[in-house]
This record gives sequence, structure tokens and C-alpha cells, in this order.
Amino acid sequence: MELQFTDEERGFRAEVRDYLRTNIPDAIRAAVREERPLPREWMVEAQQILNRAGYAVPHWPVAWGGRDWSAVKRAILTEEIDRNAVPRPLAFNVALVGPVIAAFGSEEQKRRFLPAIANLDLWFCQGFSEPGAGSDLAALKTSAVREGDVYRVNGQKIWTTYAHKADWIFCLVRTDSSGRKQQGISFLLIDLATPGIEIRLIHTIDGYRHVNEVFFDNVAVPVDNLIGEEGRGWDYAKYLLGQERTSMGNVGFSRRRLEQVRVVASGTTGPCGRAIDSAAFRRRLTQAEIELKALEITQMRVVAADAKASHAPDPKTSILKIRGSELLQTAAELMLDALGPEALTGGFGMPDETDPHQGIDARSAPLSAYFSSRKFSIFGGSNEIQRNILAKAVLGLGARK
Ligand SMILES: Cc1cc2nc3c(=O)[nH]c(=O)nc-3n(C[C@H](O)[C@H](O)[C@H](O)COP(=O)(O)OP(=O)(O)OC[C@H]3O[C@@H](n4cnc5c(N)ncnc54)[C@H](O)[C@@H]3O)c2cc1C
Repeated sequence: MELQFTDEERGFRAEVRDYLRTNIPDAIRAAVREERPLPREWMVEAQQILNRAGYAVPHWPVAWGGRDWSAVKRAILTEEIDRNAVPRPLAFNVALVGPVIAAFGSEEQKRRFLPAIANLDLWFCQGFSEPGAGSDLAALKTSAVREGDVYRVNGQKIWTTYAHKADWIFCLVRTDSSGRKQQGISFLLIDLATPGIEIRLIHTIDGYRHVNEVFFDNVAVPVDNLIGEEGRGWDYAKYLLGQERTSMGNVGFSRRRLEQVRVVASGTTGPCGRAIDSAAFRRRLTQAEIELKALEITQMRVVAADAKASHAPDPKTSILKIRGSELLQTAAELMLDALGPEALTGGFGMPDETDPHQGIDARSAPLSAYFSSRKFSIFGGSNEIQRNILAKAVLGLGARK
């Protein structure tokens, strides 16, 4: 297979890059580049700018704002967004709940939610994981019992990213416990302003505020907020997880980080001199750059195959998840080594101020980015689970006769 971009694809890349650099405010791009937490209003502003150009939901059905672009063009768009330090459109909205509503929601639900989801006028978070139900998601226990026109929801979700910023949560809940654990799960949309919901922050080692516990105490949710059929939530969740897997390699993000590492390693003089003058450091950096190139080519192979695809996730996307997350972690590690002791006190060009929106000291961003990178091998299906998928689906291991 020939792996080359067409003239049209190269033109599209230039057009996207130009739009992003011209329209996304510099302050937002600087914050993304320096990996500082972004206030909600900046994320909304950036997504609305993308949405105006048709860049927020190109993979959706055309009737709801999709662009009918090839998988290759969509991959180019994501790469340029990452590479130019633009916040990605909120994944919970555009990559997860939006496609599920578009595929399984009623016409009324589509009209009510899809335009608001694309434009980030409504912010959704994802309520799947529970204590005791992460990798084994079907073990979830949060219950929804029908009482007339409402479901009464009781239980707890955990690790809910941005629940504190969100307006709504999409949840997997148990509406029936009688059959196999994958049965009796339903997909509910819940307004977070409903009485009986409590959101509690989880403190993470990176110092950012991003994950929470969400408690439901007898919460009344209109049955109109059920997506599709009661008891078919597991099928919808599998559909959801099959969406846009090809961006999991985070190639543009890693490239940006590695480019920064090179700049910092060449400019920062620590007690032992510049990191770039060390042969051992150069070898590690070059190795990471080579691995990134290999990942990029693998990603384009998967994307090219995805062009013909159904909605079943290609098991090879697990390779992208594993290598992509490992490379992000390596790049964060190299940045700390490039900065040396400065990583603890200053970092590269960080404003000497406390972010008013998040209460985190912005000067510690490289260190926070290092700790924060640990999460990439856990969420979205941990790397161990991805290896299980590869062993079974690609290598054919583990099947019992
Ligand atoms: C920063 C962050 C943000 C998150 N955001 C969200 C969110 O917004 N919404 C949401 O619903 N969830 C979210 N999650 C939860 C995430 O999806 C789960 O953490 C993940 O699925 C792992 O589940 P667990 O934490 O229960 O770990 P467990 O499933 O208990 O796993 C513990 C360890 O055992 C390993 N393991 C488990 N089963 C197997 C197996 N069969 N074979 C080999 N190894 C195995 C795992 O890889 C892991 O190392 C987030 C997690 C993090 C860290």
C-alpha cells in the first residue's frame, strides 16, 4: 500500500493550519502549548471557532453538521489541531455522546441535543466507571428504577472527568439485574442540576482539578432522557467506543511535546550544561522521534483501512493507544530531564502567576504534565486491556478449544 498524501489532502492540511493559526486566540494556544489547565470559557470559545468552520463534528451525519470527509482528512484535521496547540473539541460531546444520539436517539432528542453538543453550548461528561466497574465495566451497579414518567437513579460514578464543569452527564445504569451482566444496562442522559446529585473532587498527583466522584441519591430522571431502548445500553456503549479510535495515537500532541523538548534541551543550561550536549540524552530523544515516525505511519495505515470501515473498532487501534500513550509519557519524561532542576521551580516560559480558574501554580506545568501523562495508559481502556485485545483479536491467543 502506498502511504502518501494526495495534493488535495496536502492542500486541506494547509487550509486547516491557516484557519487555526488565524482564528484561535494566541492566549488559548499558548496555554495549550504550555499544558496549563484551560478555563471552561476558553474551551467553549475554541470549540465554537472550530464548529464555525465545520471542524468540530466532521464525522457526524451530514444532516447534523458532519462533512462526509474521508478518514484520512479527519486524521489530518486532528493532527493539525494537536500540532498547533488548539484544544480538541470536547471528546465527551463530539466523539462519544453525540454519535450515540445521532445513531440511536429519537428525532426530538437529536434536535434538542445535537446542535448544542456540537457547539459546546451544553457540556457533557461521561458516567461509565464505578468503584468496582472500570475494566470490567459491565459489573456496574448504579440503578435506575422506573416510577411512572421518571427513573429513580441511585449509585456512584467515579473518575468522571470535568463533572465539575459539565451541564449534563451520560450514564450507563442498571435497569434490570436478572440476566447476564451485559444485559439490563441502559443509557441515560442526566441534567447535573437535578436535585440529589453530588459532585466531589478527586485530588490527583498532577495538581489539576479534572476528575470527580458523582453520587446519585434518588435522582428523578425523565424517561424521555433514555437513549434508544431500555436494556440495550451495552450495545450503545460498544458503538460509542468504536468511534474515532484512530485519533488515539495522539501523534500531533507527541510531536509538539518532542519539538518543545528539543528547543528546551538546546536552550536551557543547568548545573551539568545543556541536555542536548549529552550523547545519552540525544540518543533517547532521537529514539523517541523515530518511534513517533513509526507510530505516525502505523496510524495512517489504520486510518486508510478505516476508510472502508464499519463501526466495529479495528483491534489494531489498540497498538495506537499503547504506543501513543507510552510516547506521551516518554516525551514528558524527556522534558523534565531537559529542564533539570528548573523543572521544579520554573519550567520554560511559564507565566509567574497562579491560574485564577484552577488554583494551580502555572509555573509547575512541566512537572504536572509529567504526572498527568500517567493517566494516558489508564483511561479509554488501560494498556493491559489493550494488550489483551491484541492477543486475542490480532494474534489469536487465548482461545480455548
Ligand atoms: C484521569 C482519568 C480520567 C478518567 N475519566 C473517566 C471518565 O470521564 N468517565 C469514566 O467513566 N471513566 C473515566 N476514567 C476511568 C477509566 O476508564 C478507568 O480507570 C479504567 O477503565 C480502568 O478501570 P479501573 O480504574 O477500575 O481499574 P481496574 O479495572 O481495577 O484495573 C486495575 C489494574 O488492573 C489491570 N487489569 C484489570 N483487568 C485486567 C485484565 N483482564 N487483564 C490484565 N490486566 C487487567 C488494569 O490494567 C489496571 O492496571 C478515567 C480514569 C482516569 C485515570
